Amino acid sequence: MMLLIGSHVNFKKDDQLLGSLKQALSYGANTFMFYTGAPQNTKRYPIEDGLTLAALQLMKEENIDYSKVVVHAPYIVNLANDSDPVKYKFSVDFLQEEIERCKLLGITKLVLHPGSHVGLGVDRAIANISNAINMISNDSVVILLETMAGKGTEVGSKLEEIKAIIDKVEDKEHIGVCLDTCHLNDGGYDIANFDEILDRVDRIIGLNKVGCVHINDSKNECGAHKDRHENFGFGQIGFDNLIKVIYNERLKDVPKILETPYVDKDFAPYKYEIEMIRSRKFDPDLIEKIRNQN
Ligand code: FE
Ligand code: FE
Ligand code: ZN
Repeated sequence: MMLLIGSHVNFKKDDQLLGSLKQALSYGANTFMFYTGAPQNTKRYPIEDGLTLAALQLMKEENIDYSKVVVHAPYIVNLANDSDPVKYKFSVDFLQEEIERCKLLGITKLVLHPGSHVGLGVDRAIANISNAINMISNDSVVILLETMAGKGTEVGSKLEEIKAIIDKVEDKEHIGVCLDTCHLNDGGYDIANFDEILDRVDRIIGLNKVGCVHINDSKNECGAHKDRHENFGFGQIGFDNLIKVIYNERLKDVPKILETPYVDKDFAPYKYEIEMIRSRKFDPDLIEKIRNQN
């Protein structure tokens, strides 16, 4: 079985998609995810086609399946709250621009946090999110609603909420879901019973709607609603449970993306984690090893 594994990588003004790809390759990854700029803001630069074409060429040479590469929309896009119409419109417009950028880059998967209702309640939030998606013109990108930890007033920590949004989206071809193991755990789904979770995903949303899986351990116990990621195998979910997610046959064509924290805030753990995942053997000294080799 061909494992589709990668991580979050940078996307910088000067080398753009080509730089992201090279970073992914340096981690031993065969897929990747990036924000089209900083995750926490909406400042974005024009896409340079020359860099995109060079990246496409290199992907071909490296046997990387372009259709599995993922973009993540920035955190501050909040489609759930329309209490300030100016901010809501800004979020909708930004999402539209993000779709255009994906199109220019040839990317067909866009992960989106459903957002936080900030007191409006879940029902209104679900209407706001689906209305926003329906307002956008998009014929090429599948928007993947990410399952959330349920921190604060986050929408989407229950599969039923994701399903309710999808139900209201008119263009069913361009809507799907991204499962995040840390968020599922924090939202109350026990990853130790991952096949049961997948049964529920299948019953409620449809397994064919899963377009991406975020692989993160969690610093907190199941149901904590905290959303603090931990390195692979070093958290409450644990190595064996995460390995079962990675190698689950039902998700074999879905890209697995690590968003685990940098070690000491400086050192990307992905090359080491990917190595460990491929070996299927837990290395309790991995964090120490990353520290020493950087
Ligand atoms: Fe996310
Ligand atoms: Fe995530
Ligand atoms: Zn998270």
